Amino acid sequence: MRLRNIPGAQDAILESSYVVQEPQTKKGHWGEVFVKKQPLHIEVGMGKGRFLMDLARLHPDINYIGIEMYDSVLLRALQKREELEENGEVYSNLFFMRVDARLLPEIFEKGEVDKIYLNFSDPWPKARHAKRRLTSREFLARYDQILVQDGKVEFKTDNKELFEFSLEEVEEAGWNLEASTFDLHHNEEMVQGNVMTEYEEKFSSMGNPICKMVISRGC
Ligand code: SAM
Repeated sequence: MRLRNIPGAQDAILESSYVVQEPQTKKGHWGEVFVKKQPLHIEVGMGKGRFLMDLARLHPDINYIGIEMYDSVLLRALQKREELEENGEVYSNLFFMRVDARLLPEIFEKGEVDKIYLNFSDPWPKARHAKRRLTSREFLARYDQILVQDGKVEFKTDNKELFEFSLEEVEEAGWNLEASTFDLHHNEEMVQGNVMTEYEEKFSSMGNPICKMVISRGC
């Protein structure tokens, strides 16, 4: 998702109390950023952030960080959150940051992150761009550097080719495939507690099956 440049987006992000500025300075101290010290789950490529806002409301006992690389997209998340907070919703367990996920190991210490969500990640269809896919072995190595010992990554997409590529990368990187399905919404076990993302709602309403995998770091 890349929206047209929105004038003022960068300033709005720099001034927002929802956004962690200079996140590299928080490495090793994320517990102090939140009101409560509790497990930390992050979404990489959160888009407009609806999924994380829903999770943050459902699970006040977990801290969340949404990561997005484009100002224009993050601005939409900030606007949505402002709107919800004006209506009385409070999200003291949720922050956003505007960074490229390639920098994750510079932002989090090993063991600071308990779970990573990847939802409808950009497919980067050209083979020469495979390293940019958020489920490539290069990204799995970055996740390995920040997750707790038994940390998990949950990945959803409607893109079957990207999902098949990801299954291969998981095996190649020596991660464990804990669960997977090519049709989440018809998998009774895996669909339990599923929170839909914006893209998931859009693509499943078009009839596209949703693929999901849960993976954990190899020992
Ligand atoms: N997760 C949302 C959903 O499911 O509705 C949005 C999906 S959208 C297709 C993917 C988002 O990931 C885009 O907003 C894009 O800017 C962001 N993204 C892609 N690569 C990224 C990276 N390396 N670091 C941070 N964000 C990234």
